Amino acid sequence: MVDLQGQYKHIKPQINKAFESILDTAYYIGGPEVKGFANDLEKYLDVKHVIPCANGTDALQITMMGLGLKPGDEVITVDFTFAATVEVIALLNLTPVLVDVDEDTFNINIDALKKAITPKTKAIVPVHLFGQCANMEAILEIAKQHNLFVIEDNAQAIGADYTFANGTKQKAGTMGNVGTTSFFPSKNLGCYGDGGAIFTNDDDLAHIIRGVVNHGMYKRYYHDVVGVNSRLDSLQAAVLQIKLPLLDSYCEARQKAAKFYSDAFASSDKIEAPIISDFSTHVFHQYTLKTKNVDRNALHQHLLDKGIPNAIYYPVPLHAQKAYADERYNEDDFKVTNKLIETVISLPMHTELDEEQQQFIVDTILEFCK
Ligand SMILES: *Cc1c(COP(=O)(O)O)cnc(C)c1O
Repeated sequence: MVDLQGQYKHIKPQINKAFESILDTAYYIGGPEVKGFANDLEKYLDVKHVIPCANGTDALQITMMGLGLKPGDEVITVDFTFAATVEVIALLNLTPVLVDVDEDTFNINIDALKKAITPKTKAIVPVHLFGQCANMEAILEIAKQHNLFVIEDNAQAIGADYTFANGTKQKAGTMGNVGTTSFFPSKNLGCYGDGGAIFTNDDDLAHIIRGVVNHGMYKRYYHDVVGVNSRLDSLQAAVLQIKLPLLDSYCEARQKAAKFYSDAFASSDKIEAPIISDFSTHVFHQYTLKTKNVDRNALHQHLLDKGIPNAIYYPVPLHAQKAYADERYNEDDFKVTNKLIETVISLPMHTELDEEQQQFIVDTILEFCK
């Protein structure tokens, strides 16, 4: 699905040099690379504060702790996403409220979101799934009306641009009260281990969060709030500092590969290529097709048999997962997700794909769908 070795080859000298220097100084935790990377990412995203942490799941948890959400508060998020989002809501004893997504973009459905709001709702967590932004204009408007926090789970769309109706553009993850991301190796901006970050333009919240990530300390050995230990280490920060200037070119390589796929599938009535919305660019963390009148599971197996990696993101809706099932949920409210889990399939997508590989993938799929 990804080619991390191929990508490393292009930056091997810089990475090795940076690692060697960290190994020489033994400044493994809190080295200058961490602050340096956070500053670089603040500039890239045009956001006031980037707070690095250990992974994207922690970033969500720390954000919810920092916002002071309390047990019983309802947090709305999507049924069709990776479990991390709902996991931290449950872990903090908040009440997850799962809603359906749009069939075109796989992102939060605005009508479903509106319907899910109650007096207990405190926050909305839109997930910019597969690399394009949810409808932030509508989400921010709803949040303002109901006085809700917006936490953008931007683990899959770092680098995407959102355009508001008035023409202003903002980077994914910088529009809500807080944005979170993951630097897991296979993410669009990935390090060589685990990593994550929190973005915000809110000075007070940034201050609170900087304490939460560090055992609730604002002064050494004085613990003002209950915190966690969640750090990005120097080696990971060094990788990210080297890769960040390449992020736009990485996004372009993904977009080019996506175009190749989509052009090839345009004439098929059994394969629907990803739909790109008017308001967001798509940075293709995943290239996810919808199949029509095709046995999706058979296609999945056929591609594996031909040596073509592919994956079903996601095979089970969150409301049906054992850990998150709840009698509050009604199957009729998840019509789109329930359909998507049966029809989607994600193809290899990374910065090192070449047209020969892609042609083989496309030919194999079209032949199967004849
Ligand atoms: C990857 C991912 C996360 C979690 O990130 P980790 O760094 O693996 O903890 C959270 N949300 C979404 C949507 C993701 O894709």
